[in-house]
Amino acid sequence: MGGTLFIVAAPSGAGKSSLVRAVLARDPTLSLSISFTSRAPRPGEIDGVHYHFVSAQAFEGMVAADDFFEHALVMGDYKGTARQSVEPQLAQGRDVLLEIDWQGARQVRAKVPDAVTVFILPPSLAELERRLRTRGQDSEEVIRRRLAAARGEMEHCREFDYIVINEVFERATDDLLAIFTASRLRREAQLAHNAALVADLLGSHD
Ligand code: 5GP
Repeated sequence: MGGTLFIVAAPSGAGKSSLVRAVLARDPTLSLSISFTSRAPRPGEIDGVHYHFVSAQAFEGMVAADDFFEHALVMGDYKGTARQSVEPQLAQGRDVLLEIDWQGARQVRAKVPDAVTVFILPPSLAELERRLRTRGQDSEEVIRRRLAAARGEMEHCREFDYIVINEVFERATDDLLAIFTASRLRREAQLAHNAALVADLLGSHD
């Protein structure tokens, strides 16, 4: 068995990116997959860091070539996880983290039933709206669209294994780390990663 596949999903404004950044800082063994997207970069976004930014045609070419582990149309833009960002890492026993939407999570769950899935919720609708507004990057129209999309996304929280409420940032970070730690301690993962120890402990009695 290889590494564990973690999926973190959330509506826009739930604070997912900051949480994931904090978790990666405290758990550097996790490999974060950088998605491909046909969306234009926002101010401050760097190609290869936040996303691999490609044209819609290039994205469609990758779909045709079966390059994606999962992909979806998210609010009018293509988003996808390349096989290359997941399969070699898992095969080498590395744990991989995907920040994807519910559509992608569904596809991954079908392929990897023991993937561990987490949904992050904001503490209230009012707080979600406040967070969407204080970003200051988007127009009123975009904020309204994002709020509607957020409510649509949240309807799918029941499909996930775990739910983390991001009210107090440090607490939510600890919750996420606790989920990842417990998942790695599952029997199958522990037996696979400690095969030599288990053989030694349980091996021959002569
Ligand atoms: P944003 O455009 O604000 O960066 O992301 C919007 C949504 O796209 C988020 O819900 C995010 O999880 C989702 N997303 C980002 N990358 C991927 C991906 O590779 N696959 C899927 N299915 N969704 C993604």
